[in-house]
Parts: sequence; C-alpha cells; structure tokens
Amino acid sequence: MSRLDSFIRRLEAQRACLGFAAGQIRAVAGPVLELGLGNGRTYDHLRELLPEREIFVFERAVNAHPDCIPDAAHLILGDVRATLPQARRRLPGPAALAHLDVGTGDAAQNAALAAWLSGALPPLLAHGAWVVSDQALAAPTLIAHPPPAGVAPERYFLYHHRAK
Ligand code: SAM
Repeated sequence: MSRLDSFIRRLEAQRACLGFAAGQIRAVAGPVLELGLGNGRTYDHLRELLPEREIFVFERAVNAHPDCIPDAAHLILGDVRATLPQARRRLPGPAALAHLDVGTGDAAQNAALAAWLSGALPPLLAHGAWVVSDQALAAPTLIAHPPPAGVAPERYFLYHHRAK
C-alpha cells in the first residue's frame, strides 16, 4: 500500500471511530479531551460532531490552523506527561470522550507514551466514557471495542471505560 493510501485510510479510520464514539456518549455527561492538536483537523471535527460539549485540548506546541485553536481556557499547553496528571483541576468533571493522537514517526517513543497514557488517562474518565486512540492502550478499566465496519483492526483503537 502506498503511503498516500495508508494516510487516507488512517484519516478515514479516525473519522469513523470519532463518529462512532460521539454517538455512544449521548448518555454520558462530561467534557471531551483531545490529546494532540496538531493541525487542528480532529479538534475541528469533534467541535462539529459535539457542538454542545466543552473540548479541552492538550498540546506541547501549537502549530494549528488559526481557525482551529481553542481559547486559552480550553488549551492545556505542555507535555502531556506534565499536564495530564494536573488536569483534574482544569476540567469541569470526568470526561465522556478522549481522543489520543499524540503519535509521531518513532515507534518506540509511541509505545512508551501509550504505556504511560494507559495509566494516566483512566482517572480522568467518567464511567461509560469512550477512548479513541492512534495507539493501543492497556488498562484494566479500558475495554477494547472493535472498530466500526470498514476500519481495519489495529489501524485505530476504540475503548469503553468501565470504572471499577
Ligand atoms: N489530531 C491532530 C489533527 O487532526 O490535526 C494531529 C495530531 S499530530 C499527529 C500529534 C500532535 O501531538 C503534535 O502536534 C505534537 O506536538 C503533539 N504531541 C506529541 N507528543 C506530545 C506530548 N508528549 N505532549 C503534548 N503534545 C504532544
């Protein structure tokens, strides 16, 4: 598969998983967490899917389209390893949805960050929350869910949070 095809499939998988998860959280109160603003594409898509939800964005260095930069109250700047453990005080309550898109081209770094996020993210989630992730996560309260039809397994990851 060409890199162009692979990129297109990744974006299609992202869109399908975000759409699926947005539809699942109707009965779950709480804000949305977006980890990795990047260009702002998925942040913009989440705003469109969930216009009534507050979206808190975590990013170490903003480099997004000017129309896709959250206001200061919803932008949590810095490395997630420093900001996420403190985030509880910035959030109005446990999150209903988290989208993790902080992967880079470095597989070892991605695996290390995903392992760290597997422990750090669940305490910020509501019971019944959904997680959409570019990397596989492993936590006792995150139940893996198959991707929507048309998305190849392991291209993007979905989890349902079941707090113990
Ligand atoms: N979701 C974005 C979009 O649709 O445009 C793309 C996100 S891009 C693939 C990954 C982003 O995660 C980059 O902007 C990078 O700066 C950010 N990032 C990576 N590691 C991070 C970390 N440890 N803490 C905070 N941000 C990080």
